[in-house]
Parts: sequence; C-alpha cells; structure tokens
Amino acid sequence: MIENSMFEEEPDVVDLAKDSTSFPSFPPLDPDDVAYEPRSSRLLVRGLGENDLDDEEEDCESSARLLGMSFMNRSSAQRVAASPYTRHSPSRSCSRPSARTMVVCVLLLVIVVSMTMVLYLLPECTFTKNGCPKQNKTSPSEPVYPISTNGEVFPWAQLRLPQSVRPLSYDLTLNPDLDKMTFTGHSVITMFVRHNTKHIVLHSMNLNINKATFKLGDEKATTVTVLEFKPKQQIAVKFTEELKAGQLCVLTIDYSANLSHTYDGFYNSSYTDKEGNKKVLAATQFEPLSARKAFPCFDEPSFKATFLIKISHKADYLALSNMPKAKTTKLSNGLVLDEFETTSVNMSTYLVAFIVANFTPVSKNVSNTLLSVYSVPEKKEHTGYALDAASKLLDFYNNFFEIPYPLQKLDLVAIPDFLAGAMENWGLITFRETSLLVGSHSSALEKQVVGSVVAHELAHQWFGNLVTMSWWNDLWLNEGFATYMQYTSIQNVLPELDIENLFLDVRLRAMEKDALNSSHAVSTEVNTPEQVEEMFDSVSYEKGASILLMLNASLPGDQQFRKGIIQYLKQFSGLNTYTNDLWNSLTQVELSSQHQNVSEMMSLWTSQKGFPLVTVSHKGDEVNLSQEHFLLTSDNATHSSSLWHIPVSYINNSCSLAAECRQLFTLKTKSETLKLPEKVKWLKLNYKNTGFYIVDYGKEGWSELSDALANNYQVLTSEDRTSLIHNIFSLSRLGRVSFHQVHQLLKYLSNETDTTPVTEALLQLNTIYRLLDKHLEHELGARLKGYILSLFGALIQNQTWGEIESVSKQELRSALLETACHFNEESCIKQAKDIFKNYVESNGTATIPGDLQQVVFNVAAQSDDWSTLLTLYGKASYDSEKRKMLKGLASTQNPQQIIWILQEGLRGQIVQTQELPLVIGTVCNGFAGYLFAWDFIQENWDRLIEKFPVGSFAIQRIIKSATSQFSTKTHLDQVQSFFSSLKERGSSMRSVQEALETIKLNQRWIDTNLASLRKCL
Ligand SMILES: [Zn+2]
Repeated sequence: MIENSMFEEEPDVVDLAKDSTSFPSFPPLDPDDVAYEPRSSRLLVRGLGENDLDDEEEDCESSARLLGMSFMNRSSAQRVAASPYTRHSPSRSCSRPSARTMVVCVLLLVIVVSMTMVLYLLPECTFTKNGCPKQNKTSPSEPVYPISTNGEVFPWAQLRLPQSVRPLSYDLTLNPDLDKMTFTGHSVITMFVRHNTKHIVLHSMNLNINKATFKLGDEKATTVTVLEFKPKQQIAVKFTEELKAGQLCVLTIDYSANLSHTYDGFYNSSYTDKEGNKKVLAATQFEPLSARKAFPCFDEPSFKATFLIKISHKADYLALSNMPKAKTTKLSNGLVLDEFETTSVNMSTYLVAFIVANFTPVSKNVSNTLLSVYSVPEKKEHTGYALDAASKLLDFYNNFFEIPYPLQKLDLVAIPDFLAGAMENWGLITFRETSLLVGSHSSALEKQVVGSVVAHELAHQWFGNLVTMSWWNDLWLNEGFATYMQYTSIQNVLPELDIENLFLDVRLRAMEKDALNSSHAVSTEVNTPEQVEEMFDSVSYEKGASILLMLNASLPGDQQFRKGIIQYLKQFSGLNTYTNDLWNSLTQVELSSQHQNVSEMMSLWTSQKGFPLVTVSHKGDEVNLSQEHFLLTSDNATHSSSLWHIPVSYINNSCSLAAECRQLFTLKTKSETLKLPEKVKWLKLNYKNTGFYIVDYGKEGWSELSDALANNYQVLTSEDRTSLIHNIFSLSRLGRVSFHQVHQLLKYLSNETDTTPVTEALLQLNTIYRLLDKHLEHELGARLKGYILSLFGALIQNQTWGEIESVSKQELRSALLETACHFNEESCIKQAKDIFKNYVESNGTATIPGDLQQVVFNVAAQSDDWSTLLTLYGKASYDSEKRKMLKGLASTQNPQQIIWILQEGLRGQIVQTQELPLVIGTVCNGFAGYLFAWDFIQENWDRLIEKFPVGSFAIQRIIKSATSQFSTKTHLDQVQSFFSSLKERGSSMRSVQEALETIKLNQRWIDTNLASLRKCL
C-alpha cells in the first residue's frame, strides 16, 4: 500500500511514539494452543550500555504478553508467594559475611526455600479467608475466556488466532446488490488441523452469519453454531470431540452484510458521469485488517491459502478479481455470475480484491502477462501513461528479481473513492484516480507521482505478495522495500522523472520524524488493531527504504545487494518471513574478500529507534569520529546509549565530486580515530547523503565548509549541499549550533541554482516562519520573510511562467513561486492573477502549466476569486487539477470560507471525504485557520474516526497537521486533556505522543532561539 500523502506533502517535524502504558493487558492463553510462535524478529541489542537492564525487563514483559498469561500468571503467583522473603533476600544480606552471619544466612535460606516450596505446592487458597472452594476449583493459570454474543463462553482469549488450524483454500461466492448497498456471501473454507483442538477460531466483522455447516474428512456435513466475540472481531466453532492433527475439514458459512460506507472492507463508491448521472460501484480495500469485513477468514498475513472467487452482478457491469475470469454463467434472476480461476499461488487475505463496476480497460501484453489499466469510461484517455509506465516497470522487475511475475494478468484500476494512494492486491492493484490517471495537459510532476506509485505497487508483487512478512511488526519488509524499489526502478526505467530529488527529500524527512524520543524501531512489537494501523508510517516506509539504500551503498560492488534479495525471494517464495531472514540472505552472498556481516550491522538499524549523530573533527591527517543517538527531546533527563554500526563515507577538499573520491569507514564503537593519507582542509561526511545519520562538524568544521561553499559552491554535489543544509537545521533544533552558524552556511545560497538545496532551505525556513507566525511573533516573522525573499530574490526573478520540461526545474519553480506569492511578493501575485484571469476568460481553452497550478489557485483563492475557483472546482473533471483547486480553496484566510470547507469535507458531497486530511492540512498551514481546524477536530472526533480508523495514516496526518504548530503551554494542556478524554477512541495512539512531544520541542525552540534570530535577521 502507499498512503496518498506520502509523496505529495511537506512533512512537519512530528514523530511516532509508542506509549508504553498503552499495552493492553493480555488475557490468558489457551494451554492447548500455540498462539504465537516466539521466533521473534525483534533483535535485541545487548551489552551496549546503561539501559540494558531496562530493555531486558521491558522485553521480558513484552514476551510475556505475547506468550500470554499462562506464563504471566505462573510467575506472578510465584512472586506473590515469595515476596515476603525476597524483600530480605539472604544473598544480599550475606554479601560480606562473617562466620556467624554465614550460619544465620544458611539457616534462613533453608527456611525460605522450604516455605517457598510449601507455598508453591499448596493450592493458592490454603491461607485465604474463604479457603478452597469444593467444586470448580480455579487455578491462577486457568484462562479467563470472554463471553460470546449469544451468552456462551467464547473459546479463545487472544488477539492473534490460534495456530492449531490452518486454511488451505477458500471458495467464495459474493452477491453484491448495488441498489440496496448490501451483499450476501457463501464461503467454503477447507482447513488442515495442525494440533489437536476442540475449536476453530477465525475473523469476522460486521457480517450476519445466517447458517454454518462443518464437515470433517469424509463425514457428512452438520449444522454448527458459530459463536462471535465482537471486541476482537473473531468467530469460533466449538466441538465436543477433539479435531485431530492431520485431519482435513470444511467450514461453510452463509452470511449477509451491508456494503461499507467507509473506505475499507467491501465498500461502495460512486461518481457522476458526463451526463450528470450518479453511477455506483463496489470495491475492496483489505489491508491491513478488513478482509474480515467481506468474508469470514483467518485474517493474518501468515495464514496463506488459495482463493476461488465468484461474483454475481448486473450484465452491464463487469467484475474483476485477483485472477483472470474463467467463465460466466447466466443466473435465473437476470444477473450473471463470473467465476475467476483459482489463485495459482498461496496468498494472504489482505491481498484478496474484487470490484464490481462499469469500468473500461486499455490493455497490452508484457512478456506473458496481460497488463490492463481500468478507469471510469470518460477517463479512458487518461490511462495511456500508466499503461506505458507499468509495462516498462514490469519488464524491469521481471529481469531485476530474476523471477517472472507469477500471474497471467495484472490489472491497475482507478477507483473514484479511495483513501490510500494505491493498494497492491495481487493481480488487481487499486489506485486513487490521481495516482493512476494522467491527462493530456499533465505536468511531468504529475507523471512522477503516477510513475512512482505504479513502481511501488509493482514492486510489492514480489516484496509483500510473493514473500510476505509474518506479522505486522515487520511491515517494513513490505513497505520499506517497495519504497526503495520504487526509486531504484524509476531511476532505471523513467530517468526523465528526476526521481532522485524526491528520494533524497524522503530520506531527510524520515530522519526528522525518527529524531524524537517517541519514535519506534523499524521492526517493532505490534499487538492491537490500532498498533497495526500505526505501522503504516514513515518509519516503515521511508526509514525502511533509507536503510536499504545505506546498506546497498556500503556493500562492495553493485551486485551483492541484488544477488542477496534474489536469493531471499527465491528461498522464501510463497512463504512468510522475519527481518532477520532478509539480513541472513544478504549476508550469505559472498562476492568479495571485503565480505561484511550484513546481519550484524543491519539488525542494529532495525531493532533500535532513531539514528546516530556522528561528530567529526580533524587535525592534520588525524580524524576523530564519535557517535551518539540523535535525540530531540525537551526533557534533559532522557538519555540513550544506543550505538550503531555506521558505514561512514567521507570526501575532502582534494577530491569531492566523483564517486571514486568516496572513502568508507565503519564506525562501530562510541568513538574512533582514523588516519588520512594526507592533511586535508575540510572533510564532508555522508557522501550524497546515502547514510541514515546526521553529522556535526563542530564550530571549526562548519565554518570551513561554509567558507568552501561561499568560495565555490560547486565543490560539493547538490546532494551534499542539501545534506549540509538539512544537518545544520537539525543540529540547531537539537541546540548544538546557533542560528548564527546556520546563517553563515546559508549565505552561499544566493548563488545556488540547483533544486534540492533550495527546496530544502525553503522548507526549513518556511517551517520556522510558520512557527513564528502562529506564536504571534509577527515583527520577527516579517524580518524572516524579508530574509528569505532577499536570499532567493534573484532566483525568483529568473523564473518564467510558461511551460518547461524538466521535472527538477518544475520542482524548483513551484517551490520558489509558492513561497514568493505566499509572502505577497508583488510581481508574483500579479503574474498569478493574470494567468488565472486568462484561464477563466478562455472558457476552458487556456491551460496553466501543471507545476504552476497550485500557486495560481492559491493566489486566486486568497484574493477575490474564491467563489470563481469554487465554481471551477465543481466543474473540473481532471482529478489532479481538481485537487490543486481544492488545496487552493482551503488556503483561504477568510474564516467563513474556512469553516465551510472543513464542514463540507466531512459532509462529503461537494468535497469528497477522502480529501479531508488534505483540507485540514492546508487550513492548518495558514494563520487564520489553524485554530478553527483544531476546534473542528475536537468537535467532530467521533465522526472522523468513523471514516478513518483510529491509528490510520489519515488520522495520524490530521493530528499532526492540527497540533504541530502549537508552541505554548496552554495548547499543550488542551491537546493533552482532549486526547486523554478519548479513552479507547484514540487516547493511546502513538501520534498523540508525537504531538505532545512536538509541542514541547516547539516551546523550547521558541524559548532558546528568538534572541539569536533577532540578532541575525
Ligand atoms: Zn506499499
């Protein structure tokens, strides 16, 4: 899956915390079943310093949670029995014994041991007031089972399903009724019994089960009662006789349900066609936990099975599913029934998909695969670019992975209502229209969005679909890899899209989010549905991709990485994996004498949160390097002793541009010294910013680099210049460098013409501007505005307003002009207004270059043309342009318009509800709207979480937008008290911790930097 805003937004500094108090207290395990095979992918780092004990205790406790209460109860029972004695532990009192003390101690020890044994062997009730009950004796290790909806005891108390029964195949018939917005289903699940058991437990949510039968081996099917425990979205069938390991059985369930009105499960969507008629359709979105809303199933990624899917529909609609259609039968009720081939591969439930709609395709054959792009009929002409890009990318992946795409067809479908950016369902990838359709006037930037989303989802057909993470804690194996591959493949196949700029930006943004104390490890423990949703964040995607790039860049030659992943894909094809399986595959490929233990290095990057700060100093030919955790924290008492194996690359003044200049050194300890062949004037670490760390050069080092750039900025690559700008702003946020030093480095920017150094500096400066603006520091804000406009004045003046080809130049132009017009720069405003006027008057014949549409619509909305823009928005059919109009409308500074657009986003008629996170994000950027947005979120919280699941990326984004610019104690208290009042409706979300931490950091930044800013500006 790719979240919609992951490739379009300017992220703010917000991070992802894990509330250690938010763990659910786990109910007991059924001793008959193994709920979790504790082959944990969580690699514990030991022997690294003072926090070891805490880690160990925490880990012990979390393992206990996973293993269930049978372990916990036993240990706590022991603890209760032993506690009076452990307080006077003999071993402690005997630490320096005299002979007499020794005797006393030994005696005491004997007494303690005997009493402990007596207490342990006696029933717990022996010394209680009530004594032992005669019947129904309960031991502390006996599990407490929940009660089903019908009042019977539900036989399972865990969130994860038991491993005793595994599905082999699903035979699924679905009958959606698009008039009534309901569907019925008939599901036949064939299963294999792995361990003796008296029950089968699987998932189901919001399904009304009408009838169920069960058949064991060759026996006759009998009707069974299905128990349901709604809080865990589980159903179960209990048996009086044990099912025996090795047996085959079949569970058949008939059920009915409503098509979902949200964006997950089997949901309804609609659009208005050219003639103004409303057309309805039904589509699915199952990842991560919504297959259970469409059919009863074992809805965990490791329960792979085959699927035979049949769907009935009206004859003028078509049905699509993962596999090609095998046959169509006419039904007596006038409908037709499409039967799809059985999946040729075992598949996780979250990858199942089906659609009933009146879409039209364009197709072509690529190798042995029929590749098609589907859209609503009137957008058929917008599908060509995606088809072309997908065919090139499919060829690339077939060759790169040396495993051909395993299905006969691959459909890419644009769905009118779709919350995420796209979803990689095997053979049937679904997209938001803006992520797949490209109009004839689309800019290269829009093609870049489509190209990268298609590349991401195609990569998943191998990473995720063919080889799948065992559990959501390792989601990064899917998402980090697909994100990494999306950039690698585009660079190879569609180089004109200048994708490397975007990848650099993605890596820098991932660091900002990972710098907070509330961040989490790439591979991290996940227990509740909310925590599963929360894994879809920048750590899984962007940090995951960044550490893969770092690894690839640090390996000798360019083939070890590729060979390692081919080996991994081949070895685990059709199976589920853990993080360490990947590292082991990469370690096993030995190509050179400089062989590295990949597993040893990379497990430190996936098991620890955050990333290192490398401090460097040099004297003559001697270089001192040291590392520490780069941790943004408002709390000085927080310390971290994390260490990483860091592949430190470096260049120097005598050789700094070509790849051959790069030297490598692996920093494994807290500090090390290395010798250079000769004395150097300056050093730049992290060549092209391929490593996931920040560098502090010290006062002297920063001033050497600032001077070098001022003298000739082309002495470093643009990636290196961007990396310096990013690093110095990060260090300033950490309090390690003054704003004066930042100012010194930025001086060279008046000569800069490349895209990424400029966009990085603009992003950082604009973030500070917004903070000052919201903190009512208007006078200082105005000075900063003046500083930005003077720094980039010449470059802004050089921008033209006509069509340009280069993606990189378009990125530069849109960033510069959006800033200039936002700061009311006169000529910018005038140009934008003229273009808008011309556009309106031309009655649809004039076009605005795609990269300039946003700035033009923003200016229109913020002047007198808001209503004109609203009219255009109502008529616009091309989605990418329509979204920019919406963003323009939401950038208004008029309170009535702000409130209207927020409410309209929730109502979902004029503005689609899927766009609400975008609307809120835009409103919050402006001065007039951010407080309205915060009120709106508080007032409408329950409606918001009805539309967007608690913990989902959309909710994370809404919370971040609304709170990341607060910088006062009052707002901190408000945010804290609102979220703590929510209880199970979202109080324990990681994004709430991030929000609180960010507000505190903003507060601290304001307190410490205003004076220095006033001096410099
Ligand atoms: Zn993805």
